[in-house]
Amino acid sequence: MSIRTNLENIKNKLPNEVTLVAVSKTKPTGDIMEAYEAGHRVFGENKVQEMVQKWEELPKDIEWHMIGHVQRNKVKYMAPFVSLIHGVDSLRLLLEIDKQAKKNNRTINCLLQIHIAEEETKFGLDETELEEILVSEEFKALENVKIVGLMGMATFTSDEKQIRKEFAFLKAIYDSLQSKLPNLNTLSMGMSGDYIIAIEEGSNMIRVGSSIFGARKYQ
Ligand SMILES: *Cc1c(COP(=O)(O)O)cnc(C)c1O
Repeated sequence: MSIRTNLENIKNKLPNEVTLVAVSKTKPTGDIMEAYEAGHRVFGENKVQEMVQKWEELPKDIEWHMIGHVQRNKVKYMAPFVSLIHGVDSLRLLLEIDKQAKKNNRTINCLLQIHIAEEETKFGLDETELEEILVSEEFKALENVKIVGLMGMATFTSDEKQIRKEFAFLKAIYDSLQSKLPNLNTLSMGMSGDYIIAIEEGSNMIRVGSSIFGARKYQ
């Protein structure tokens, strides 16, 4: 099926308040333009270099989301244009984003990534680390970073109960933070295999790649 048809099929299933991030990592700019011409404007990439290249080549009204793990030394390359960084999992990274945002006279929206999966391998903060960041003086002094929500990835499993439990856990943390962080409005959870469950558990931003663009050649 075409990219346009895949997009329409997914969007037809989404409640109004859910934002679809079309994950275009590893895919050529031609594929992105196909989605663009179908009216889509929000794209997600997981490598800074690749996102910068695509940003340079493609229409400037595209909203670029960084969904991958970010190395601090790469922040400067995307700071001029990135619209949301999903995978923020340390205070040191926040400080660097703040610094680069200042240099560009911008405020950069960020999501804190929370570790919700059973697997050891997935990135993200646990509840203790999250709390440590939130109470720190450095965090309170950030000026050009806005924490607008949380992001999480569920365990890669066919066990629906497990996935649901992990998403519900993230939603509970999100709800409990509302009183501490004034700008929270984004809960980024759900990918091709689990976005229906994620939405049922309270997601309002899903990151979908292969169901739109087809399987990736690697990963
Ligand atoms: C690749 C990726 C996605 C999209 O995965 P699909 O299964 O292709 O939908 C979503 N979130 C993150 C963080 C990713 O790296």
